[in-house]
Amino acid sequence: MASPTIGVLALQGAYAAHQRMLHGMGVATREVRQPQDLAGLDGLVLPGGESTTQLHFLQQGDFWPALQQFLTTRPCLGTCAGLILLACSVQPTQPSLGVLDVTVQRNAYGRQRDSRIRQADTTLPGGPMELVLIRAPRIVDAGAAVQVLAQCDGDPVLVRQGHAIGCSFHTELCNDTRVHQLLVNACRNEL
Ligand code: GLN
Repeated sequence: MASPTIGVLALQGAYAAHQRMLHGMGVATREVRQPQDLAGLDGLVLPGGESTTQLHFLQQGDFWPALQQFLTTRPCLGTCAGLILLACSVQPTQPSLGVLDVTVQRNAYGRQRDSRIRQADTTLPGGPMELVLIRAPRIVDAGAAVQVLAQCDGDPVLVRQGHAIGCSFHTELCNDTRVHQLLVNACRNEL
């Protein structure tokens, strides 16, 4: 595939920053606001924001099953609230798509006023990665099939399972394209 078209779930939250990041990398995007918008896309970004609000919109009509179906075959990147939506298990309990075999604890890095920038060690080439943590979820458990690509203080912050990628931080707000490049590579079938 020459250049994929990547959907960005645009119901709420930080979707515009993901679009800017992908456009800067020369990747075409489409905003996904209803299930029909998924047709023909090569992958999907689920942005940060507020997972309960995003859930509210996703549980209207047949959006939820359409998204689950899409994610069985297409790569995805979930950041922060998007990671919460992709997880298999969420604390406190809320519905999730069950795409990534992780348990996440919402708001575990503190409240809005505890938002901070930290550094993560990563197995990706290019050295430590900047972490923008905004009411971020902590990955408290990860199944054997989950690859940890970055961690901070011993906790995974960037994970991949097959063609699903999740991170607890707002990579779209950093000047670092490595996480989005993972998604683009997955869309090109170059994991
Ligand atoms: N705390 C939010 C939630 O639980 C996630 C925050 C974020 O995406 N920056 O959905």
